[in-house]
Amino acid sequence: MDFGDSAEHAAFRSRVRAWIDARRPFPATGSETSEAQLDEWHAALRAEGLVGLSLPTDVGGQGLDIMYENILLEELGAAGAPPIWRRGYLARTLDRFGTAEQRIRFVPPALAGTEKWCQGFSEPEAGSDLASVRTRAVQDGAGYRISGQKVWTSGGHRADWCLLLARTDPDARKHAGLTCFLVDMTSTGVLARPFRQLTGENYFSELFFDDVLVPAGNILGEAGGGWRVTAAILSLERGPADIGFLSDFQSAVVATARALASRPGLQTPDAMLAFGRAAASVELLRLRAAESLYNRGDGDWDPAEASVDKLLMARADQELANGLAEAFGPAWLLESGGDVTSRYLWSRAATIRGGTAEIQRTIVATRLLGLPRG
Ligand SMILES: Cc1cc2nc3c(=O)[nH]c(=O)nc-3n(C[C@H](O)[C@H](O)[C@H](O)COP(=O)(O)OP(=O)(O)OC[C@H]3O[C@@H](n4cnc5c(N)ncnc54)[C@H](O)[C@@H]3O)c2cc1C
Repeated sequence: MDFGDSAEHAAFRSRVRAWIDARRPFPATGSETSEAQLDEWHAALRAEGLVGLSLPTDVGGQGLDIMYENILLEELGAAGAPPIWRRGYLARTLDRFGTAEQRIRFVPPALAGTEKWCQGFSEPEAGSDLASVRTRAVQDGAGYRISGQKVWTSGGHRADWCLLLARTDPDARKHAGLTCFLVDMTSTGVLARPFRQLTGENYFSELFFDDVLVPAGNILGEAGGGWRVTAAILSLERGPADIGFLSDFQSAVVATARALASRPGLQTPDAMLAFGRAAASVELLRLRAAESLYNRGDGDWDPAEASVDKLLMARADQELANGLAEAFGPAWLLESGGDVTSRYLWSRAATIRGGTAEIQRTIVATRLLGLPRG
């Protein structure tokens, strides 16, 4: 593929670069208090027409081709600016699978950030083997009654809506009896219990659903068609472009290069080697993300390809964290609440979230390389 910009893309890149430059100094990211700052950043991007670039205009997007998303990420990353909103792939799913009414009702506030979403998939007994979910949805008149427990729900306690996977037909084949629901988190019977993680933040929740009544009109896709929606969500979530990690990693490379340049004492051979390796991983990821988006825009894209993106993303994340730890040494690692510590601890999750590295390797082996299952 040609990684160069067309004339339109180049003009957009210049506009975005100028807009980002005018926003310096950027809000800090990475701590619990930065949540509000990230909301403000999202609102500023939105006001400039930089959210939902490749989504249709009737739902509040900009109707542009998908490479515009990539340009935005690259420019945010190169400038060291905060990333885009991480739940953008859920808005894309609502647009893709929603009915005409659902699209108009749900996508614009999701893009505006006025309604926040969480993803209610994983359960205590269903993670890698997601199709084993036990949360039940039983038809009751014009709706469904949902009961069960979800875990590891990112931002669950801050969400207004949950895109939830539940079993609607216990007698159907494992993958066939599942349905996706749009659940209002203020419904009677919903409890979101945040829990504190290694970094000291309350990022995750356990969600409990106790006989929660959800209208049948809030099914996303078809009843019994939940696995199709789920597979699409997972493939979007595994691409670094859709969740904004790419620009986050690029920003960290820029910041680290500056820190190393300004403190020659830190430039030991080991630190430079570790940082160089990390920077190369991030650059490889950038090229891969551009290629994936280009192919996706062309329709020439197997969703299993997202597992390659995910593996490269996890490697870039962990090599970056390791590189930073090496460069800045144990004193920085131990510094409480420091960015290096936080990034290092968060990076441990990179090979778990969105599907573990082992599962991604199996997908690559069986679906892309055609190897037999063990
Ligand atoms: C930062 C973060 C954010 C998350 N956000 C969300 C969210 O918003 N919503 C949500 O629903 N979930 C979320 N999750 C949960 C995540 O999707 C699961 O943790 C993940 O899918 C793994 O499931 P598990 O934790 O149950 O591990 P398990 O499935 O129990 O796996 C345990 C270990 O066994 C290995 N293993 C399991 N099966 C196989 C196999 N067949 N072959 C080889 N190895 C195997 C795994 O690779 C892993 O090493 C998040 C997780 C993290 C870390």
